[in-house]
Amino acid sequence: HAQQTDVFIAEYQQGWDEAHLKNLRILGEFNSALEAGQLAVYYQPKVGAKDKAKVCAEALIRWIHPELGFINPETLIQLLENAGQVGALTRWVLSRALTNMVELREQGIDIEVSVNLSALDLLEDELPDYVASLLQEHNIAAAKLCLEVTESALMRDAEHSLANLHRFNRLGCALSVDDYGTGYSSLSQLKQLPVSELKIDKSFVLQLDQNKDDQFIVQSTIELGHSLGLSVTAEGVENEASGAILRSYGCDTLQGYFYSKPAPLPEFSLWVKNYIA
Ligand code: C2E
Ligand code: CA
Ligand code: CA
Ligand code: CA
Repeated sequence: HAQQTDVFIAEYQQGWDEAHLKNLRILGEFNSALEAGQLAVYYQPKVGAKDKAKVCAEALIRWIHPELGFINPETLIQLLENAGQVGALTRWVLSRALTNMVELREQGIDIEVSVNLSALDLLEDELPDYVASLLQEHNIAAAKLCLEVTESALMRDAEHSLANLHRFNRLGCALSVDDYGTGYSSLSQLKQLPVSELKIDKSFVLQLDQNKDDQFIVQSTIELGHSLGLSVTAEGVENEASGAILRSYGCDTLQGYFYSKPAPLPEFSLWVKNYIA
């Protein structure tokens, strides 16, 4: 038995070491990969549930490593956060997103784009000024940029995060509470936030057409959002049935593979032209 356990531990450790080494490599190569153009920003449409012509997009980071392949965005963000380097990624995504918004505008697609902020971004006091200068440089109205922040990010250092959230709000950016329902923010906390959108986490939406509990949760969350004057988005809409249920609940915006997966800019642009045609 002892021997078997030793073998098990050795294998377990080897697996752990491999994962650890891979993570170190991802972290170590991040900056040069960014410069070498290995990373890209993909766009996933968010469509109006009532108003078909209303389309916006969420910007999502993609890194296809030449040897390691697809790097999971959540893993990457986590690693960068732990290393205190997530700010470099955020700034790069913001800058790409605004450049791409100008390209879309030139094609007649003038839409709002959402960028995700990590928990640590909200503690970086220089970020609102950086966003302001980017908006000015690209001549983009602040209201066209939406920043998505998670419930849990806001609770890491609530006072400090809230102060910066207010600074983005004063700039005129739209703000959204992402992954709603997975954290533990209370109603009074939610009421205090200067946000205009609530995004229901996809874990409640993926099986919406099959699961009565999810239907109950999603319906009451939409009502809650509306009673707080917020626009409600559901992410993770994978089929027509779930979309129809969300519409019947009065959900404002739908996002998910049923409409489109996140795609590179040219593909996204074609999708939009086709959708609104
Ligand atoms: P998120 O902000 O909640 O983004 C939504 C995620 O759900 C994306 O995963 C998207 O591809 C996925 N998704 C959308 N519709 C569907 C669907 O119908 N079915 C399924 N199964 N999934 C769907 P992705 O791109 O892998 O990103 C994962 C997370 O990584 C994001 O979750 C966000 O927390 C983080 N992330 C991605 N890009 C960035 C970024 O540029 N900055 C920061 N700070 N975080 C990012
Ligand atoms: Ca998001
Ligand atoms: Ca989300
Ligand atoms: Ca998420």
